[in-house]
Amino acid sequence: MPDRMPAEPYEVYAIRYAHLDRPARDNFIFGDIHDGPMPLDFFIWAIVGNGRTFVVDLGFEHVCAERRGRSIIRLPSEGLQMIGIDANAVEDVIVTHLHYDHAGDLSSFPNAKLYLQDREMAFATGRHMGHQRMRQVFDVDYVCDFVRAVYDDRVVFIDGAQEIAPGISVHHIGGHTDGHQSVRVWTESGWLVLASDAVHFYANMTEQNPFPIVYDVGAMIEGYGTIRGLADAEELIIPGHDPLVVERFPCPDATFEGEIVRLDRGPSL
Ligand SMILES: [Zn+2]
Repeated sequence: MPDRMPAEPYEVYAIRYAHLDRPARDNFIFGDIHDGPMPLDFFIWAIVGNGRTFVVDLGFEHVCAERRGRSIIRLPSEGLQMIGIDANAVEDVIVTHLHYDHAGDLSSFPNAKLYLQDREMAFATGRHMGHQRMRQVFDVDYVCDFVRAVYDDRVVFIDGAQEIAPGISVHHIGGHTDGHQSVRVWTESGWLVLASDAVHFYANMTEQNPFPIVYDVGAMIEGYGTIRGLADAEELIIPGHDPLVVERFPCPDATFEGEIVRLDRGPSL
């Protein structure tokens, strides 16, 4: 797929909206790790430039948070508001996959088209959801919202790799779910990859030891190599749930410290 370059590089933000304390042993499929606390953060991302705003993922909302015993810091749409993005006006949302922590709160984005892989919709509504272990990370209400979005002509189906706009493309990287996709963006630092859950923590990739919520372990490990090939530098690969992201990257405004970071200029550490 040839890259069409945008007139200007994009700004990219990570917005942290929830947090979960967890031991390290719960974050790796293979057991040879040093155990201890290894908490997990929840993010959505925003890509801004060339007169457009793309949101990557939707997060979850209070009802789901309560049901799953999660603590939500703020609604993802409220996080977007902090950097001047009105969720109500957002026209483009790239959905990396349909797990509950990436595909909820659709009602805050009533005007958005939703970019989703064919295989993810098939996966979330097909035979694998007949198994409790596979469906437990999905929320049936959120999946039904997406089915309604299909009938409302809001879902843009993607099969594999596709450009969304000059300088922004999505890439199917299965493994975590059957139809998971990551997002590649042109920035002033080069090609940056919002890996989402193709890489939960930096350590999953560097240790080649996947996060245990996985559909296909082989595809997951293969995906680490694909992502490295898409990014211009290892430091421009942004994992989906690692608290180190807010430590490594600069905050655009001191009042957002630890909550929102700017990714496109590279890490400050
Ligand atoms: Zn996730």
